[in-house]
Amino acid sequence: MTWYPARAVVDLSAITHNVTTLKNKAGQAQVMAVVKADAYGHGLLPAARAALAGGATWLGVAQTSEALALRAAGITEPRIVTWLYAPGAPMADLLAADVDVSVAAPWALDALVEAAQATGRTARVHLKIDTGLGRNGLTPPQLDDLLPALMRAQADETVSVVGIWSHLAFADAPEHSTVRAQAGVFEQAVAAAERAGAHLEVRHLANSAAVLTWPSVRYDLVRPGLACYGLSPIPDQAGPADLGLVPAMTLEARLATVKPVPAGTGLSYAHQYTTARATTVGVVPLGYADGIPRHASGSDASPGGPLQVGGRRLAVAGRVSMDQVMVDLGPGATDQPGDTVTLFGPGHHGEPTAEDWARAAGTISYEIVTRLGARVPREYV
Ligand SMILES: *Cc1c(COP(=O)(O)O)cnc(C)c1O
Repeated sequence: MTWYPARAVVDLSAITHNVTTLKNKAGQAQVMAVVKADAYGHGLLPAARAALAGGATWLGVAQTSEALALRAAGITEPRIVTWLYAPGAPMADLLAADVDVSVAAPWALDALVEAAQATGRTARVHLKIDTGLGRNGLTPPQLDDLLPALMRAQADETVSVVGIWSHLAFADAPEHSTVRAQAGVFEQAVAAAERAGAHLEVRHLANSAAVLTWPSVRYDLVRPGLACYGLSPIPDQAGPADLGLVPAMTLEARLATVKPVPAGTGLSYAHQYTTARATTVGVVPLGYADGIPRHASGSDASPGGPLQVGGRRLAVAGRVSMDQVMVDLGPGATDQPGDTVTLFGPGHHGEPTAEDWARAAGTISYEIVTRLGARVPREYV
């Protein structure tokens, strides 16, 4: 591995534990671990294997390339569903790799039928219904229009409709009325497909927040992503520990430089932060190219993203730049070049969490972990 002055340490046993916790919460429903976006930045293959060890029987990905990468790596047993693609997608490769495919638009059925005819394989299809999120998926009238063609394809054995699924708009909002409304539209779509002749294996609607807070929408299969990695999808209501989850990722760097500076020293671009007194400052070799949000820059008026150095909780001082951030270590600091700076971790030792970074940057923990740069090595424990 190329040497790098920072790393993301991923605790695979935490992922396994979290998936087991989710499986227990899901009751009779099976668990599809969502490993899209490089397993939310944790590393596709190691995270997928850890999730399977925890009891997931399905894997979910957005991109077709992610599904094919899982199969190419020898993950042959579990069902894999891919759900986001555009015309030109490698449908024949997906069928050859035994991947289930979502159909969210009429054109996708034609493309799958063509691929099925070319490969001699039946496409296992999950019909994506837009039950009210207002994003991808067939609207109920589109579903009605498409059902005859779907059933003809099923009769020809080019397609088998195995699932109906949808995604919630307000799963993380306590008791939001739209959840029940979406579930109602969902159940009507299920009934319409079954009336038309679909033999559904799985109905699936729940993401992490819904698995944890909406027992009524678990159906046959649940699709947690964020919670598999130990982060809370409902941070204003409950933290990971309250939910029985353990954050899997720790992001840390080594201090590159430590130096004394006088009072009134401006740090980093545009000197948004000026030292109030003679102090010691450190260079942390992680920047926005590594995924550190520039919105978490610090200034004289407000501290930046949190850091832990030598057991102390400090903050980014000045602008986040492409490759580095500065930290004001305080007068008389004894920290040395090479000492560890922890940006976030599980929080078990007083270190900040990904949720703390999300708050500092005005975003959600999903974005903090998924945006982690490709050049930061992931190390697995
Ligand atoms: C990303 C995604 C999920 C997982 O969502 P979390 O909130 O991370 O649990 C589930 N379903 C779909 C369609 C998604 O795009």
